[in-house]
Amino acid sequence: MKTLGLIFLGPPGAGKGTQASIIAEKFSIPHISTGEILRNAIASGSELGKKARDYVDRGELVPDELILDLIRDRLCQSDAQKGWILDGFPRNLPQAHFLADLLGEINQACQCVLNLEVRDDLLVERLLQRGRKDDNEETIRRRLGVYHEQTTPLIGYYQEQGTLYTVDGSPDLEVVTQALAQVISSKSNFNTEVEI
Ligand code: AMP
Repeated sequence: MKTLGLIFLGPPGAGKGTQASIIAEKFSIPHISTGEILRNAIASGSELGKKARDYVDRGELVPDELILDLIRDRLCQSDAQKGWILDGFPRNLPQAHFLADLLGEINQACQCVLNLEVRDDLLVERLLQRGRKDDNEETIRRRLGVYHEQTTPLIGYYQEQGTLYTVDGSPDLEVVTQALAQVISSKSNFNTEVEI
């Protein structure tokens, strides 16, 4: 069976979530956003939500142990057997190592890591417009700091593995979608399904 495993990497405000949901629909694969899972858990008042709330509100990463089992369970669900897009995971090197082991274990693979690159000043501008609860100026600054400190090492990690593709995330939405779809079709065997 053909599978399409994609990771979307990039700072907050780069357009990961928006692009991931468009690409997920085009390729009929689930869009798995850990941020969204956590926000839903917080809204529903579940145990996970209670544990995650303060971290998310402060713009810090939630502890890995809250995320890892959740990713394992999600990738083992039936709709994820033909592919998936991970948006917001992995966020640090331990999570990336966990994912590599997990994919080996469940006999799956990530074909491309799509790294959306956008300048910090444009990110702040976009995030302030979005107006999510964790999109106030102080939290935005912390999230960018956390990204540069903890998530950017993944760029080198995936570059070494030969799966990293960097795409400029600053142009209009459709231009970025087109660029992403081109990379995906050239690096995976899903090229026939790219009709933008
Ligand atoms: P996002 O929607 O991806 O910007 O994530 C929103 C918030 O959820 C982040 O600022 C973190 O607090 C938390 N979060 C999302 N994904 C992860 C992850 N993989 N590891 C730790 N925390 C996460």
